[in-house]
Amino acid sequence: MNPVSKRDYYEVLGVGKDAGDQDIKGAYRELAKKFHPDRNPDDPHAEEKFKEASEAYSVLSDAQKRAAYDRFGHAGLQGAAGGPAFNPEQFADFGDILGDFFGFGDLFGSGGGRRRSRVQRGEDVRYDLEITFEDAVFGMGAEIQVPRLQACDRCRATGSEPGSGPTTCPTCKGRGEVLYQQSFLSIRRTCSTCNGTGQIIRNPCVECRGQGYRQVQHKLKVNIPAGVDDGNRLRLSGEGQPGPQGGPPGDLYVFLKVKPHAFFERREHDLHCTVPINIAQAALGCEIEVPTLEQPHKLKIPEGTQNGAQFRLRGKGVAQLNGSSRGDLYVHMQVKMPTRLTREQRKLLEQLLETLPVDNRPAEKGLFDKVKDYFM
Ligand SMILES: [Zn+2]
Ligand SMILES: [Zn+2]
Repeated sequence: MNPVSKRDYYEVLGVGKDAGDQDIKGAYRELAKKFHPDRNPDDPHAEEKFKEASEAYSVLSDAQKRAAYDRFGHAGLQGAAGGPAFNPEQFADFGDILGDFFGFGDLFGSGGGRRRSRVQRGEDVRYDLEITFEDAVFGMGAEIQVPRLQACDRCRATGSEPGSGPTTCPTCKGRGEVLYQQSFLSIRRTCSTCNGTGQIIRNPCVECRGQGYRQVQHKLKVNIPAGVDDGNRLRLSGEGQPGPQGGPPGDLYVFLKVKPHAFFERREHDLHCTVPINIAQAALGCEIEVPTLEQPHKLKIPEGTQNGAQFRLRGKGVAQLNGSSRGDLYVHMQVKMPTRLTREQRKLLEQLLETLPVDNRPAEKGLFDKVKDYFM
């Protein structure tokens, strides 16, 4: 935070430089009530105001900090022992503090420790699955094994040996949080002995060593729909890690990696491939067999086909994920010049040369864009 842009703490609380402790406390109380985030859920400025007031109060209510601030301003609080003048992490706890301190916890609907015990969802799990090009196009069912946690059968996820329940945490007396006193504020922290659960395990389950869970290889079947592409992910709801303390499980995300194909290239739902023909086939026209992902397809090449010409086979591409229509297959012609001619072939080409018109003027710009497309 830039100290220059900070407002004067007395100004923030609306009190004079000579204000007594009671005035400061009273002023902060009013501001805290007014701008409390729980009371202004839709107003981000309220939270800012609340933080600003809390920061001002934390300084002016502390005799040492107030003296430093009176003498040197905001600069007097920088780099003091113990780091920043105000620990922003405390804000997280203020909802609780105010609730207890001012005795209007119910008014704010954040009664003390209750907000800590809200149900937690299990973690999401990622699984990477590599599939073939064809499987992505046509869809498939896959059996996968996902390592994840499973509730321990022996202790039913409690972590305690059967017959011996958990016992109340001695540190927090079962509250799940510990109260710290700081000037007139009391600050709650999650109890580190029991991680906020309020209970500790006295007699850990021998099967899971008190964890309540064990690592298993979870087998499940994944239905991969036709038309998926590299980088797609499938969400399997509820197949992630189990939720702690009986919370709902997380989700499983299957990330798909599609292996490239030897000669088909995929662009969205269309496929592209390149097929070589020789100059005689290109000049005279011919019928060739081109591969598709299903049956080979007979394709008529008209006479005078140029290098780079493309032919479209409708519906031979990839299925749309959401419907029944399919993309197309584009066959690109690559006219190959013959090399290592026999004497006879050479003679034939020489005869051809004598009869063909020769025109070696530079080609007009844009010629290649005008290459004719043939559509089936
Ligand atoms: Zn167990
Ligand atoms: Zn505890």
